[in-house]
Amino acid sequence: MSTPGTVTPARHTVTVAHGDGIGPEIMQAVLRILAAAGVPIDLEPIEVGETVYRRGVLSGIPDEAWESIRRTRVLLKAPITTPQGGGYKSLNVTLRTTLGLFANVRECRSYTPYVASPHPGMNIVIIRENEEDLYAGIEYRQTAEVFQSLKILSEPGSEAIIRYAFEYARAYGRRRVTCMSKDNIMKLSDGMFHRVFDRVRAEYADVESDHQIIDIGAARVAAQPERLDVVVTLNLYGDIISDIAAQVAGSVGLAGSANVGRDAAMFEAIHGSAPDIAGKGVANPSGLLIAATQMLVHLGLNDDAERILNAWLCTLEDGIHTADIHREGLSREIVGTEHFTDAVIRRLGRTPRTFPAARFGAGGIRMENLYGPVRSSQKALVGADVFLDWSPPDRDPVALAERLTALAGHFRVHLISNRGVKVWPGKTPETFRTDHWRCRFLSPGGPTTVADVLALLTAIDAAGLDVIKVEHLYMFDGVPGYSLGQGE
Ligand code: NAD
Repeated sequence: MSTPGTVTPARHTVTVAHGDGIGPEIMQAVLRILAAAGVPIDLEPIEVGETVYRRGVLSGIPDEAWESIRRTRVLLKAPITTPQGGGYKSLNVTLRTTLGLFANVRECRSYTPYVASPHPGMNIVIIRENEEDLYAGIEYRQTAEVFQSLKILSEPGSEAIIRYAFEYARAYGRRRVTCMSKDNIMKLSDGMFHRVFDRVRAEYADVESDHQIIDIGAARVAAQPERLDVVVTLNLYGDIISDIAAQVAGSVGLAGSANVGRDAAMFEAIHGSAPDIAGKGVANPSGLLIAATQMLVHLGLNDDAERILNAWLCTLEDGIHTADIHREGLSREIVGTEHFTDAVIRRLGRTPRTFPAARFGAGGIRMENLYGPVRSSQKALVGADVFLDWSPPDRDPVALAERLTALAGHFRVHLISNRGVKVWPGKTPETFRTDHWRCRFLSPGGPTTVADVLALLTAIDAAGLDVIKVEHLYMFDGVPGYSLGQGE
């Protein structure tokens, strides 16, 4: 019952998975801290993981668990053990793809001197796009020599992750968002990501922002991570740099991670179920606790998150450490999970002396309108890239160009490239040539039709050339929607 004149904070219901191995011990510790802090959340436990796998549910997650997650939209998950072999599917991949968790957020922070790290002051968050890019897994073998993976990026998907990064920066009181891409090479796909970043950053003038090419960006994550704050990037780059960042921070055991979607979010520690120490009462609950504070900010309970994080930082400072982070000279007491949990609870309301105190912005993360408005553009078909499997002994592009010119009809053979490098017109005898040829046909008389492209393909096929694929060439609002060949 609330006192007249006071506002009772809205209560939230959260689905909780206690996990396997050390999972139940560290989850119990975290829930004790949340309860002691008076966090206004109600819990809905679900069973996922090993016991569910063993019952023959290959995804590791039963129907009742889905119902709970869909109802509460927030899952706090302890690590689980994936049984080896037997066709069991990764629970994390299933949750991510089914719930559309498009953002992976990993905080990598050093806690020197209490936890050894070559980078004191490092406090970086990697926000990685989680659904697109080369991870779509669309791959083909096209010729005896050539294999292909498709990199698929969407403008709404890019806008959602970039907007999320700025919202995150605001909610967590972060200073700067750095976008990393390789748009000097992939001008169309990564170029779009960079362009969307520039468009969105203009709306967040209170947050500093910049763009770095991923190769130099990754080098900086490794060598000078203390100079970075929030990094937003594509799936593959994010996968690589988040592992680099976790490694150089030196505190993998203390890191939490979030997977966030429009309709649901999942929070967990980075580490696994540690079967080697399960049941011994020595596990460090810190990674899951950090994840739980991320969950509180997601719910807009920033004050609660601050209080808990500060109590935890005080515990580290006071030298009360679990065995995994014990350091001679700095640790005062080596404690088990329960004692560590009690120590954090006793410090609720205190502010750390050495570490900067956690201070989050006001309000949670706004998840509305992340994808931006639906966009359309004027599209015109202006030609086609026809890919051939062609391997006569000399692989002479001039001979191929002559054959194709005779078959082109109202199209013009514009260019032939091999692995993206232009080999015709002009002569580049030093370029190595595989059996995989891209032959670009343009329609000099203006827009063309799919029927014309099909007629072209039929003519090429009838001439005995092996067509393996065709890509249409479009103009969008008068701008080419295709890249030029290298050397063009
Ligand atoms: P792990 O992270 O469980 O353990 C690696 C080492 O770190 C072990 O020595 C362990 O004792 C120690 N460790 C991990 N967490 C600790 C903690 N909180 N406190 C103290 N020490 C800790 O990695 P692993 O051994 O490769 O994997 C074990 C199981 O966990 C596997 O079945 C794996 O599939 C699963 N796993 C699950 C998740 C998840 O649920 N998100 C993530 C990674 C691994």
